Amino acid sequence: MIYYEILCYSCRRKFKVYEGSLKYKQFKEKKSKIFCCDDCSFKIRLDAIKNFFR
Ligand SMILES: [Zn+2]
Repeated sequence: MIYYEILCYSCRRKFKVYEGSLKYKQFKEKKSKIFCCDDCSFKIRLDAIKNFFR
């Protein structure tokens, strides 16, 4: 399986994005410069929801 190893901007850990996923496409096409792993994107989404209801 083809994948890229990308550094998460949030936790600074490397994570893998596999071919066919949205992040893989974004990385390949260089549409986005910052990437975060699934754990962090989940946390970020959670924080956003918390802030929304504050
Ligand atoms: Zn992360």
